[in-house]
Amino acid sequence: MEMKKEYAVENLTIVWQPRLCIHSGICVHTLPCVYRVGEKPWIQPEHATVEELMQQIDRCPSGALSYRLSGKS
Ligand code: SF4
Repeated sequence: MEMKKEYAVENLTIVWQPRLCIHSGICVHTLPCVYRVGEKPWIQPEHATVEELMQQIDRCPSGALSYRLSGKS
C-alpha cells in the first residue's frame, strides 16, 4: 500500500511519501523547526515561509518530499 500524507500551509501543499525516503537528513538539517522527528505531526510547515519550504523540498534527493502550489487562478 502506498502511503502518502499531505500538509498544507498557505498556498503550498507538502506531499510526504515515506516509502521513498533514503534518510539523508537534509530536511531535518535545513529546517529543524519544521521537520521534527518524534513529534506528531512530524512536519510542521507553519514554522517556515513558503519560499523556505520550497527551497528545502527541492533539495530532497529521493522525492519523498514534494509539493504543489494552489490558487493564483
Ligand atoms: S531530505 Fe528527503 S530523503 Fe532526506 S530525510 Fe528528508 S525526506 Fe528523506
